[in-house]
Amino acid sequence: MLANLNDVLKPAQAGKYAVGLFNTTDTDMLEAAISAAEELRSPVIIGTAEVLLPYGELSLIAPSVIAAADRAKVPVVVHYDHGLTFERCMEALRLGFTSIMFDGSAGDYESNTEFTREVVRVSHAFGATVEGEIGHVGEAVTRDNATSDRYTTVKEAKAYLADTGVDALAIAIGTAHGAYKAKPCLDLERLAAIRAAVDAPLVLHGGSGLSDDDFRNTVARGIAKVNIFTDLCLAGEAGMKEGLEKGIGYLEMRNLKKDYIKRAVMRKIELFGSAGRA
Ligand SMILES: [Zn+2]
Repeated sequence: MLANLNDVLKPAQAGKYAVGLFNTTDTDMLEAAISAAEELRSPVIIGTAEVLLPYGELSLIAPSVIAAADRAKVPVVVHYDHGLTFERCMEALRLGFTSIMFDGSAGDYESNTEFTREVVRVSHAFGATVEGEIGHVGEAVTRDNATSDRYTTVKEAKAYLADTGVDALAIAIGTAHGAYKAKPCLDLERLAAIRAAVDAPLVLHGGSGLSDDDFRNTVARGIAKVNIFTDLCLAGEAGMKEGLEKGIGYLEMRNLKKDYIKRAVMRKIELFGSAGRA
């Protein structure tokens, strides 16, 4: 069934577990993620990100994601991740997405909050929820996350929530997008301090490549949503590699890839503690 972020993250925050966002660029990844959630009776967040649209155009992928969410036996949030432009966020809402992340982190604080506030106003009118980001989650490849002065502060988190009215908040505590070049070192004290100071569910981006302990530690300190994409690609690639070695055909290869991705999603769901919560 279709849900929004409030439906799945408020219980997660209260129950001290996290719900995974698994970005999907095609129906193979989509089916893998939803069947994993159904098998484990877990709420799930499925979506795509603006930077992934060249690999799966929004107007084409949206109807399949929404149809799959609608018929699923567990709550499924259809989330537009890292919306970079107001226009694309509005398109996602029109297409039926139940949740938007607006990423205004490229601009200054004033323009970030101004645009975010506007996205919140329209999204709430659609019954959709909004995630915002304060601080800067870097790119693993350039290691610009190494500069801890871009991590989220308690003061920034409180001000940003008050200024924008977002439903969930992504914070920067040392994670990065993409595949990590060096072992990430997470600022858990900062996370605990932010958790104690604000009410909104907190989101961890750049989850691919973190250790099991990183997830246990961050979820225990109040992370309610974790974003995963790169790990699903790696799982799919491993499936395709095995298929090539076995010399199987296209359709069998597709199923093998899907099974690999499904198992990767199931592992994350178990780790986040959301199994059995739907
Ligand atoms: Zn992200």
